[in-house]
Amino acid sequence: MRKYVIMGIQGSGKGTHAGMLAADLDLVNIGVGDILRWNVQNHTKLGAQVRRTMAAGELVGDDVIEGIVRERLAGHDWNYGFIIDGFPRSERQAEFFLESYDIDGVIYLDLPDSEVRRRVMARRLCAGCGMDYNLIDNSPREKGRCDACGGELVSREDDTEEALAVRLREYHEKTGPVLDLFRRKEYVVTVDSRPPKEQVQQTIRARLGLPAYQPAERATG
Ligand code: ADP
Repeated sequence: MRKYVIMGIQGSGKGTHAGMLAADLDLVNIGVGDILRWNVQNHTKLGAQVRRTMAAGELVGDDVIEGIVRERLAGHDWNYGFIIDGFPRSERQAEFFLESYDIDGVIYLDLPDSEVRRRVMARRLCAGCGMDYNLIDNSPREKGRCDACGGELVSREDDTEEALAVRLREYHEKTGPVLDLFRRKEYVVTVDSRPPKEQVQQTIRARLGLPAYQPAERATG
């Protein structure tokens, strides 16, 4: 059983690396931002409640987030463990989490602020299947169209200059202290997120004592 948290600034690759680890190690991948976005897209009651907050780049209230995480983890479908991305982002969320679960490690993807804007502004998502692209090093074959389903590629509603500025401020003010707390408990492995993603993934695994990443196995996918 392995239980990890993945943290890092916007655009640092949390979703990408959580996905790669989860697929290979049979971990349940819990992306709190993804759960929220699913609710917004599907017009649920929760979606209506959080839509404007998210679009503005602000953090959703702790009660709402704790409810989502509690419910998701209560499903107990994580036989081999889980990796959680986008949580905890405030000290209150961290306290709630540490009271309820023991964790094996916190992966901190380190990226300088100067690189964040470039990455976030280049990010695109398929409106059809949700596959993500980055116009810097992962462009679609046909401009504006998803390679997998042909759907339209769009920017996230909160990937604007204005909302990004708010998200960065929220990150430094509220999530920074969470990282400090985890550091004091010696949970954190810090990995430089600037190299190519295969190399970053390899470093994460080495630092956590996990089996090495095998890119060749995935080349046909
Ligand atoms: P990013 O890390 O790039 O900001 P996410 O997809 O993780 O993107 O989150 C998008 C938005 O969802 C956040 O800006 C915030 O509004 C909301 N959100 C996600 N996770 C949390 C959380 N743990 N606490 C409060 N709000 C959250």
